[in-house]
Amino acid sequence: MKQGPVLYEGKAKIVSQGETGRLIHYFKDSATAFNAQKKAEFPGKGALNLAISEVVFKALTAAQIPHHFIQRLDERSFESMSLQMIPAEVVVRNRVAGSLAQRLQEPEGALLSIPVVEFFLKNDAKGDPLVSEDILVAFYAQRQEDLQECRRLSLAVNQAVRPLFAAAQLELVDFKLEFGRDDEGRLFVADEFSPDTCRLWDVSTGEKFDKDRFRRDQGDLLEGYREVLKRLSQQ
Ligand code: ADP
Ligand code: UDP
Repeated sequence: MKQGPVLYEGKAKIVSQGETGRLIHYFKDSATAFNAQKKAEFPGKGALNLAISEVVFKALTAAQIPHHFIQRLDERSFESMSLQMIPAEVVVRNRVAGSLAQRLQEPEGALLSIPVVEFFLKNDAKGDPLVSEDILVAFYAQRQEDLQECRRLSLAVNQAVRPLFAAAQLELVDFKLEFGRDDEGRLFVADEFSPDTCRLWDVSTGEKFDKDRFRRDQGDLLEGYREVLKRLSQQ
């Protein structure tokens, strides 16, 4: 496997050039929260996030949802398509939590009668602000049709992945997706799907198994992520 130069180092992964038209993503063990103001190392987190992401991408394949994941390369790396990223984080919510609870000043956990899709501008320097689809079109040069397709695919991901977690006695409260386009303009789910980027609550006790453990000092992060993988692997 040819590994070219590092193209980008982010908060959670290092992305290198792979074979032509492909990238190699290496999962780091660091966790960040509050726009990287809080930071810590968790040895083994990267491998857990890759293993959980792989389970989810396989479920997307089964549901015929286009995604960038090609293959796992080792414990912490995977090969993907190289895409032109849409500069947005697309959040799907099944319950009120996190920034929505703050914005609405409503308690966490309230059920939403339909899944809600929100777009945030992917821009750390600006604090990833909430934006409308119109703003992404009018000011950030995005195509209305692409955003509609991101929305449709995000809801399809929710439908495909919720039952997977439910079977593991985990409720998928919310999650963040990123999308990219290939040379022909087709959209693919990109990046990762892990407890760093979603909220997972135990269906009976409400215990949290995601990054909120770190954000809010609510328990051992690695223990939570290990439990997610263990339960998914038992399905
Ligand atoms: P961040 O940039 O938020 O700190 P990461 O540390 O996870 O995030 O870095 C991964 C980077 O790779 C992100 O900027 C993400 O948008 C980008 N990315 C993910 N999948 C692809 C892809 N298939 N093609 C190009 N870029 C991608
Ligand atoms: N999320 C993410 N990256 C971000 C912001 C949010 O992966 O930069 C995920 C987060 O883990 C949660 C969902 O998106 O599963 C919704 O996050 P929210 O808007 O509630 O923000 P938070 O309060 O979690 O920062």
